[in-house]
Amino acid sequence: MSDIKMGEAPDGFEGAGFFATSLDQVVGLARSHSLWPLPFATSCCGIEFMATMGSHYDISRFGSERPSFSPRQADILMVMGTIAKKMGPIVKQVYQQMAEPKWVMAVGACASSGGIFDSYSVLQGIDRIIPVDVYVPGCPPRPEQILDALMELKKMARSETTRRRNEPEYKALLESYNIPVLEG
Ligand code: SF4
Repeated sequence: MSDIKMGEAPDGFEGAGFFATSLDQVVGLARSHSLWPLPFATSCCGIEFMATMGSHYDISRFGSERPSFSPRQADILMVMGTIAKKMGPIVKQVYQQMAEPKWVMAVGACASSGGIFDSYSVLQGIDRIIPVDVYVPGCPPRPEQILDALMELKKMARSETTRRRNEPEYKALLESYNIPVLEG
């Protein structure tokens, strides 16, 4: 007996010798099982991410074991730690270098809101400069919370239409952050 479990098939129509579904569902299924993170770790929350990568929590169970330090091969920008205002443009540049579709996770209180550092030099949340898909509360959050946020992103990736990134609402979102929209 094999312990290998098959993933759930997307909704579709099944008959003798055939299974039909939509392209969106197949693409969403593939994307959701191979979301590669780009860890942008500046302080303590990054340590929690390291634990999430370790054998106990084992993020590779969900297809995300391959951290990408090249923005062009990454799907999720995971910002973990305090982001100084001087560092804001670098975070934004990394985000812009990532290819679509891309998602952003703000890990911990600092990345989400500045945390306890309500000071002139600290960015009060990365959503001041880039759009964020999932916020992970806590100072620091536990690895379980990071995995929970990954599950949320997987749901988003799975249910997203292949056209979403070309829709006016998405373009308007990027324009509101003064991020150029790449046609393609
Ligand atoms: S949220 Fe807390 S644990 Fe995370 S980087 Fe900020 S101070 Fe450190």
